[in-house]
Amino acid sequence: MCSCVGIVGATRGGGVGPYSGLHGLQIDALQSVRMVTGTDSLLDVSATSHPDLWWGMRGAGFNFGIVTSATYRIYDFTNDGQAMNADFRFHASQNASLYEVAAPSPAHSPTLSPSTSLSPITRPSEA
Ligand SMILES: Cc1cc2nc3c(=O)[nH]c(=O)nc-3n(C[C@H](O)[C@H](O)[C@H](O)COP(=O)(O)OP(=O)(O)OC[C@H]3O[C@@H](n4cnc5c(N)ncnc54)[C@H](O)[C@@H]3O)c2cc1C
Repeated sequence: MCSCVGIVGATRGGGVGPYSGLHGLQIDALQSVRMVTGTDSLLDVSATSHPDLWWGMRGAGFNFGIVTSATYRIYDFTNDGQAMNADFRFHASQNASLYEVAAPSPAHSPTLSPSTSLSPITRPSEA
């Protein structure tokens, strides 16, 4: 999961991360929220407390109220917490090539292979 956005904002949009295949979406781990509604009420909302609002908070939209705290189910570390993240940047001029590589066509492999002509952008110091 990208650490550059707010956890509540990302959760309200679903929250896709590298462990979604193991544990589901971030919203699936949400257990309850404390929130302020538009009528100035402070509510603890969960499956058993204000369940209609809970249903809404789990995907029906963004504007039911302001979340001031949230409780999540957490999981044990995967691989003892060891993880690798790699970001690939491609020059805009390679945009079409990226889509061609990803296209499910017999002429193209659906996965990036060493034979593709794409080359990630390198920093000037790496060139
Ligand atoms: C660089 C980048 C990387 C990203 N990577 C991923 C990723 O790996 N996986 C993924 O799933 N998504 C990813 N996203 C999408 C991201 O989850 C959404 O853009 C998310 O909405 C960003 O959260 P935010 O805190 O910036 O929310 P905002 O854009 O500020 O808000 C999004 C919505 O949530 C509401 N909201 C925010 N905080 C609260 C609160 N406390 N109470 C009630 N409502 C609230 C806002 O009103 C708004 O409607 C990425 C986005 C960016 C910009």
